[in-house]
Amino acid sequence: MQLQSFAGGRWVVGSRDAVALRDATTGAVIASSSAEGLDYRAMLEYARRVGGTSLRQLTFHERAGRLKELAKRLGNFKEEFYRLSFSTGATRSDSWIDIDGGLSTLFVYASKGTRELPNSHVYVDGSVEALSRGGTFVGQHICVPLEGAAVHINAFNFPVWGMLEKLAPAFLAGVPSIVKPATATSYLTEQVVRRIVESGILPEGAIQLICGGVGDLFDHLTCQDLVCFTGSAGTAQKLRQHPAIMAQSVRFTSETDSLNSCILGPDAGAGTAELDLFVREVVREMTVKAGQKCTAIRKAIVPRERVADAIEALRAALSQVTVGDPRLEKVKMGPLASLAQRREVREQLGKLQREAELVYGGEEPELLGADGERGAFMAPKLLYCRDARSARAIHSVEAFGPVCTVVPYEDLDAAIALTRQGGGSLAGSVFTADEQVAARLVLGLAPFHGRILVVNRECAQESTGHGSPLPHLVHGGPGRAGGGEGGGSPPPPPFLCLGARRGRLLKRDMFYWIFCLPPSSPPPSVFFIPSLP
Ligand code: NAP
Repeated sequence: MQLQSFAGGRWVVGSRDAVALRDATTGAVIASSSAEGLDYRAMLEYARRVGGTSLRQLTFHERAGRLKELAKRLGNFKEEFYRLSFSTGATRSDSWIDIDGGLSTLFVYASKGTRELPNSHVYVDGSVEALSRGGTFVGQHICVPLEGAAVHINAFNFPVWGMLEKLAPAFLAGVPSIVKPATATSYLTEQVVRRIVESGILPEGAIQLICGGVGDLFDHLTCQDLVCFTGSAGTAQKLRQHPAIMAQSVRFTSETDSLNSCILGPDAGAGTAELDLFVREVVREMTVKAGQKCTAIRKAIVPRERVADAIEALRAALSQVTVGDPRLEKVKMGPLASLAQRREVREQLGKLQREAELVYGGEEPELLGADGERGAFMAPKLLYCRDARSARAIHSVEAFGPVCTVVPYEDLDAAIALTRQGGGSLAGSVFTADEQVAARLVLGLAPFHGRILVVNRECAQESTGHGSPLPHLVHGGPGRAGGGEGGGSPPPPPFLCLGARRGRLLKRDMFYWIFCLPPSSPPPSVFFIPSLP
């Protein structure tokens, strides 16, 4: 079956050079993809002329209502999406993050749109600014939709959530989307878009889809369009430098790869709940989606005197992870998305092994119901880097698979320095029951992270975990993590920037999320960090 793009209100098939897309477990060809022959300029014009016009006629509340209706409608097709998702290598619980996570993102945006935005077409941003002594001359910021298209370029690991987390804010803001999923798993995105289109819930032109490459699309971008990219830092760098992006000052947001850390507090010794929680979290992050998550823990930073205990506990937990066909209930971890992806991870692993020793995962696992030659399977790999301060690869090489390195630290300053060597990360986490330790680490990590999670025995039960981006909160991070923010989309100026302009801290018992300003944000006039206990 050849995938189709949805362009100018029609489903179209690429004219030639279709690429075969394979099931990650069996290697069987399940679809092919080509965007050859697409008229990208016409797609942008259609988005601006038809999609933007129809979206701007709706109020925020009307758009929010459509999102909610869409979420409910897509819920009727969940089983169909789950079946297809197995081919990406995802187990049922991996797919839950992608599919149910995507739908709940739509619900959250719908609810926030209704509760937090006015039932009108314009958002009034802040209070009236007094600009004159007599009060006859004042200023007021307002937010209106851009009159262009939001081009969404997505990574292969979340073909549903990755699309919906960008579509929802753009739609709410009144900007039509052109979605370009990563080719490897685009068959699942295509199926979801089919269900969206046939529902008739979104106005005409609100969504278009490109299955395949983007051709000359970037050449036709203008200052009214925006590009929201998720993927590797290398691709982001290339796209950011496109002449049209630079000449037209096209808004470009990127969420890229990131070497995320998880710190075990010095108080979390043998027998403490925090040590158990830490081990569980590291193993979960290594194995969910076979470690193919931008937020996955790549450095498990532990007090030097606890290294042996931590490694032993991690080994024991990893030995319980069953690997094989993700369709089988007993299987905890499926394959990587493709054989090409496995080659890439092995290559990156080789670089890490030059400075870190492999302490678990030397042998390939016994597979349940699958063949290791045809499927892109890989054992979880745990490394130990004795001298991390002078190491380079563990702070710069992302092995996008079930790979994590245990790194020792001497004191809290050293632990903070080790996380900062990653050059900017999406997510960090701290496992401690000591409030002083938590406060010190949070403040030390905050300038280099988009999000920090503090976990102790009190909040663990309700915590969503290290790696989950939540639609209520900013997702993104400084530096290497891309400098992006929001649900991937900075929609119409400056709608989504509202929350992201300020640092926010929500305190619920001993559970903190802290956001820092990405470097691209406006000056920190309203930035604040409330005092910690
Ligand atoms: P990738 O190779 O950079 O590709 C990302 C997207 O860019 C794909 O849709 C790809 O399309 C497209 N692309 C590649 N070259 C392009 C070009 N010259 N012009 C236009 N589009 C182009 O990344 P990936 O392998 O899909 O994803 C894995 C990476 O994404 C990891 O490094 C991971 O850390 C990162 N990631 C980050 C986040 C986050 O939120 N920060 C989330 C998920 C993943 P094709 O597939 O057609 O080449």
